Amino acid sequence: MSKILITDPLHESAVEILKQAGEVEVATGLTVEELKLKIKDVDALVIRSGTTATREIIEASENLKVIARAGVGVDNVDLDAATEKGIVVVNAPDASSISVAELLFGMMLAAARNIPQATASIKSGKWDRKSFKGMEIYGKTLGIVGLGRIGQQVAKRAQAFGMTIVAYDPYIPEDVASELGIKLLTVDELCTVSDFITLHVPLTPKTKHMIGKEQIALMKSNMVIMNCARGGLIDETALYDALNSGKIKAAALDVFEQEPPQESPLLTLNNLIGTPHQGASTEEAQLSAGTIVAEQTVKILKGESAENVVNLPMVPTEKMKKLKPYMVLAEKMGSMAIQYLDNSIELLEITYMGGLAKEKTEILKRSFLKGILAPILLAGVNLVNAPVIAKSRNIKIAEGTMSESDYGNSIKISAKGENDEISIIGSIEHNEVVFREINGYRMDIKPEGTICIIKHIDRPGMVGKVGVLLGEHGINIAGMQVGRREPGGHSIMFLDIDHMISDEVLDEIRKMENVRAAKSINI
Ligand code: NAD
Repeated sequence: MSKILITDPLHESAVEILKQAGEVEVATGLTVEELKLKIKDVDALVIRSGTTATREIIEASENLKVIARAGVGVDNVDLDAATEKGIVVVNAPDASSISVAELLFGMMLAAARNIPQATASIKSGKWDRKSFKGMEIYGKTLGIVGLGRIGQQVAKRAQAFGMTIVAYDPYIPEDVASELGIKLLTVDELCTVSDFITLHVPLTPKTKHMIGKEQIALMKSNMVIMNCARGGLIDETALYDALNSGKIKAAALDVFEQEPPQESPLLTLNNLIGTPHQGASTEEAQLSAGTIVAEQTVKILKGESAENVVNLPMVPTEKMKKLKPYMVLAEKMGSMAIQYLDNSIELLEITYMGGLAKEKTEILKRSFLKGILAPILLAGVNLVNAPVIAKSRNIKIAEGTMSESDYGNSIKISAKGENDEISIIGSIEHNEVVFREINGYRMDIKPEGTICIIKHIDRPGMVGKVGVLLGEHGINIAGMQVGRREPGGHSIMFLDIDHMISDEVLDEIRKMENVRAAKSINI
């Protein structure tokens, strides 16, 4: 039974889902040492932002298969350490988008209409109707920095408020933005034209302090800047100066460079409103984040694939369904190649043919590598760590595409070892993997179980002789195919047999006249 450890408060519906998959322990507030001890025999670790899954903790685990982060940011998980150990990291990237976008609108309206300041005023017994004159957001320009999940939710809502929207996001193509009714600008242009600016980018070395003194200098004096993304995107010293001097009207922050921002001079300013990192703090976001990661954790523990794997390429569910049979094909081709070569692979060339030429194929490449590495490693190779292990073994990979193919959607691999090479073309027929060509010989092999491959010279009686020898050893042949290029030349024989063949029997085959090589492969 799987062991699941939850180390941050998690919605109870999520805990119930996890209980279906194993024995659940909830232990919050653990010290690093306590967590290192507990993690040893745990299969799944479920966290929110309170736990930091460091390399030290990950390396202390012996059975860990999945780290589930009930939320978006995975900056509290050492992804490299998890990937190296083949641990899948999942999150719930969409769970809080609406909550954050709604908080942003709360912030924007509160700043535009001075709601927090007016609230404080009436609570102090005053009835001051002059000091809090605000502005409408209708007809104003909203500058969105980062047009991802949350940025787009904000844009939709801003359109309903009658705002003009401009955005800065160099990774969003022009046509996608214009379909959303949004004009893309440079960050400086956005700072110049916007009445409200809102940030929705991750914190990276590139985005740290992306709003600083120079950008603020370009801003309108009556503008409001808002940050519900990550502290550190705005240079807080420059922001303090701008708010204090009246260079800009107001700022609304849910996030700070240091959290909590106890010593920050920003907190002394009347034109700063803020919340303590509350973007995802809604019943709905927490229910959704908890249940999404719980469901994914259950899938991974059952050996199934999950959608929101952070350390794997993102493949939408529909695409995943389409690619799934080809992932199986790729893995079987990889397994066949390594067992055939029985040596390290120096170069792997992969050609995606037919309709596959248009697909994103990273997941297929990983499947090949998993197929190549699984037969030669004791355990632990999976789609997450296969590229890292392949790199450490100097397997060079070249990928290409061909829109034309004799076999429709199909894949060709050529693998080169130290002394030999193999090429395979495979496709899917009626949902089954079929090898259509091996080393240029046309075949029709459904690779499953044990295959005996015999390279020989084409001479009368070869098939019969091999059949008799195997029969003498009690080995049953379920199917057989022979490929040859020209009569009397090199041929290859594929035998579908019921059991692995022992080395002794293989040696007997190898000693037969006209046999050049014999191998038993298990797929
Ligand atoms: P996302 O990945 O969907 O979108 C991020 C966008 O930023 C992408 O479109 C990307 O192209 C763009 N981007 C990346 N680098 C950029 C750069 N240098 N300049 C301009 N654009 C750049 O992320 P999301 O889910 O929309 O989250 C946005 C932010 O909100 C993140 O920082 C996330 O951590 C934060 N967040 C905060 C809370 C909260 O509680 N306040 C909750 C959830 C998410």
